[in-house]
Amino acid sequence: MEPMSDRSATDAGRPADAVLLTAVSNTARESARVSEREGRVRQRTERLNRISNALVAAVSAQAIAEVVSGEASEAVGARAATFGLLTDDNTMFEIELHSGVAEDVVAQWHRFPNLGSLPFPHVVRTQQPLFVGTCAEYARRFPSIAEQYARHGFQASAILPLSTNGRVLGALSLEFGEPREFPDDECAFLTTIANQTALALDRARLYEQEQAARTEAEQANRAKSNFLAVMSHELRTPLNTISGYIDLMLAGVHGPLPEPYAGYADRIRAAQKYLTGLIDSVLRFAKIEAGQITYDIGTHGVADLLRSLEPLVEPQVTARNIAFVLEPGDPAQQVRADSEKVIQILLNLVANALKYTEPGGTVTVTTLCAGPTVGIRVSDTGRGIPQDQIESIFEPFVQVGALTRETEGVGLGLAISRELARGMDGELNVTSTMGQGSCFTLRLPAA
Ligand code: ADP
Repeated sequence: MEPMSDRSATDAGRPADAVLLTAVSNTARESARVSEREGRVRQRTERLNRISNALVAAVSAQAIAEVVSGEASEAVGARAATFGLLTDDNTMFEIELHSGVAEDVVAQWHRFPNLGSLPFPHVVRTQQPLFVGTCAEYARRFPSIAEQYARHGFQASAILPLSTNGRVLGALSLEFGEPREFPDDECAFLTTIANQTALALDRARLYEQEQAARTEAEQANRAKSNFLAVMSHELRTPLNTISGYIDLMLAGVHGPLPEPYAGYADRIRAAQKYLTGLIDSVLRFAKIEAGQITYDIGTHGVADLLRSLEPLVEPQVTARNIAFVLEPGDPAQQVRADSEKVIQILLNLVANALKYTEPGGTVTVTTLCAGPTVGIRVSDTGRGIPQDQIESIFEPFVQVGALTRETEGVGLGLAISRELARGMDGELNVTSTMGQGSCFTLRLPAA
């Protein structure tokens, strides 16, 4: 007989108020059930939010595993959690992250093939979560490990694939000490956790890869700097010998050099000077890269610094037939800097300005005071720098445009200058218009 007609028959034989009372208490029970379910859903949502936030903050696989085994296990009462992560070629599972699993199990299943009737290979193959409520069902599905499963007191399992963005990372298994059912809302809850865990693991993997790449790049850079430093040092020694002997020859210690040898010696001298300058630049750059430069920071008057520049650039200015205008500005203005490094930067900027400006042009050095910094500006009326290459000129060994005998260099001057400026908490920038000129600004902290 249908249950409904059963109840109708009973109701028919009872007084109306008794029927009403039963209906009222049924409604009360139903609304209690509804609010209990709502409470459970609310708790789950709060827990999911907490887990999501914790997973976002976790940057290592270990931290992610701790969040999941702690929070998720507590939420559903799991006794153990095991993460099986696939190797890059998807052929093997590795278990490094786990909690509540006996040592002998971990030792045996530390690494195993992605094959056969085992829980992890199964869910990775089907890409569907698997909820096993009893020992008997587990034995039926995975007979080869049923005995071990029962021996460790497990009675039910939730086995969830871990995949994200089309990439299968592995699987997660939660084990329970009692037989149990898995209601729909719990299955959905665990599936969501597995999805978020996969996302977090993928993020952690990318983060680890990025860290490893960065460390590798830093090591390669250090190796390059060491190589440059050693090579420059080794080249400098024979160059010093060449320089000494040429000086001796040109001084005519053993009598004047006959032509054409005097002319040859002059050329050797010029080439040696050029090479020495080049090697010094490489050595300086290598030292900066290796963090071996020390800064002697003090308070200096900007006008004094600029005035000390003038005699140093005068020979080049005269040789190039270029007007050199110095506007030192407020005599009281001071900067916090290493005066030697400032002069080194300015010498380089002025040398470039003279190099890339045609005879008859003008190179101007001025100061600008703005807030906490002081700017020293070196501008020229030279050939300018193309906009699309303006930032690359600060990179080492970058040179722009055709090089002539006058403009030949090594492409390190600006890279060194910017590093030195930054080493003094300053900055070096440029603006330029093709055909009209360039304007380099060195900014330093005002004193
Ligand atoms: P180098 O002068 O040894 O080539 P730098 O690092 O000093 O190396 O300069 C890099 C490049 O920037 C130069 O090759 C040149 O193309 C460009 N450059 C620098 N200063 C100027 C300038 N004042 N005017 C035009 N181009 C410049």
